[in-house]
Amino acid sequence: MSNDPNIICGGDFEETLDYPTVGALLYDNFKDGGDKVSLIDAIKKQEWTFNELLKQSVKIAESLYGAGIRQNDVISVLSENRLEYAAVAYGTIFLSAICAPTNFLYTERELEHTLNIAKPKFVFISSSTKKLFSKIKEFSFVKRIIQFDEDNVDDEKLISYKTFLHKYGNNKFNVESFVRKPVKLFDQGAMIFMSSGTTGLPKGVELSQGNLVAYIAGNLERIPSVKETYGNVTSLYAAPWFHVMGFVGKLLFTSSREFCHVFFAKFVPKLYLECIQNYKIMTITVPPPIIHFLCETPLLSNYDLSSLQVIVSGAAPLAKELEEQVKKRFNDEILVCQVYGQTEATLVVNPDFSPLSPGNVGFLSKGTYAKTIDLNGNCLGSNKVGELCFKGPFIMKGYIDNPEATASAIDKDGWLHSGDLGYYDEDNKFYIVDRLKELIKYKGYQVPPAELEGILLSHPKIRDAGVIGIPDELAGELPFAFVVKEEDIEITEQEVKDYVAKNVSNPKWLRGGVKFVHEIPKNPSGKILRREMREIYKNMKAKL
Ligand code: AMP
Repeated sequence: MSNDPNIICGGDFEETLDYPTVGALLYDNFKDGGDKVSLIDAIKKQEWTFNELLKQSVKIAESLYGAGIRQNDVISVLSENRLEYAAVAYGTIFLSAICAPTNFLYTERELEHTLNIAKPKFVFISSSTKKLFSKIKEFSFVKRIIQFDEDNVDDEKLISYKTFLHKYGNNKFNVESFVRKPVKLFDQGAMIFMSSGTTGLPKGVELSQGNLVAYIAGNLERIPSVKETYGNVTSLYAAPWFHVMGFVGKLLFTSSREFCHVFFAKFVPKLYLECIQNYKIMTITVPPPIIHFLCETPLLSNYDLSSLQVIVSGAAPLAKELEEQVKKRFNDEILVCQVYGQTEATLVVNPDFSPLSPGNVGFLSKGTYAKTIDLNGNCLGSNKVGELCFKGPFIMKGYIDNPEATASAIDKDGWLHSGDLGYYDEDNKFYIVDRLKELIKYKGYQVPPAELEGILLSHPKIRDAGVIGIPDELAGELPFAFVVKEEDIEITEQEVKDYVAKNVSNPKWLRGGVKFVHEIPKNPSGKILRREMREIYKNMKAKL
């Protein structure tokens, strides 16, 4: 395949992918990490060494096993980032069970959809997500709910984390020998993340153990050169682990044994800067809005940020101007690079830490193949814009219980059609130009327009609706709705916004606004023409 000049390859892995399970790889990495600090909760100021991470993850694996969890059972975590979250995720993976990090900002409606896809047996919650407890309890497949941060909880399905470990942890289950029992790496599920829903509600992306092994192996290969250039890697990340960028890109990054990962449960501007200073952070990974914050905040001069060497931007497009602005802000002494990827490709298509010219997202990861295609599926070659397609060990196992959606994302030859328009240049550097698919990105969060359209249509006073993302310097994009009212009925913009806000989590609110129109542009088969809506919006703006 690599002989085809229109297909490019990121190179062969030097590291073997031949591990019995991803759990075995993680287990051994944690052991090798020993007394080095692995994870730091920046707000609580608590830290775990690799030894402690291993101990806690093993304890969780023993307790889950003791409570009846077996291979392929699903465990959801509905919590802000915290040390115990990592133990639950890794303990689950040690059992070759499947971890489903769940968005804690979800409304009951969104949570219901997600739980129905993942069907977790156990759900871990915290006091900040306890308001969703009665909803979770309704599902008959949920057998147990475990709460991290409260001891005296009392309900037939609910148990505290402490009691759970105490009650189920003392069994003779040997985690170390269990993780060495081989599984079929690329058939065995490991994680479920929710993806964008371009044709409706989000889908459950199932990543295999093989996907995770490939990701970790790629990191292990890069450690020597990253260390040589930058010294010890201390990375800071302030976004939640329910997104693949947080979990795979950062938390799993720590499993590469040399890296220390400082995390936040919630982004707090002053604390963030204080943390870079106090923990001598070498690299931060951020969505573009935080880069914007770094450019604008007057607080910057109050802190010594001289340890910072690399800013990695990801999850959404970073404007060239913003990239140049942030470099200037740090006196051109730091490297700013972009990573590009998607949940369906285990996040990473292009790894970070490579010096790049502004505007591109770097080189292809090792083991990955890429091509760009035109609308007829023909391969285009370098410097020609087309849909980016990828193939290799990072490509997801599939969408849970959705063979049609899986088949339309991954073709019969194994190519993942990313839905992004882009190209690669003569040096094989990649550039993202636009999105073919319709996902809106608000501050890096996925906002599927079709989901918002579905909600708008459920309002008795609304006949038709179409949603687009409008550009916003700070957030990337804001959801904006075109709405057709039912005849002779009054409804205000605020009513529409409130209705949406009642039904979806905060990032999906109609912050861009609402425009009442007579009809929604559609093609003859009834498909909404979002490009036309974007044109209408542009003309509207131009007239203002
Ligand atoms: P998610 O599955 O939430 O990670 O979203 C993946 C989508 O985010 C990609 O298909 C792109 O549309 C967009 N995306 C991620 N990183 C970048 C980037 N560096 N530049 C442009 N778009 C990006």
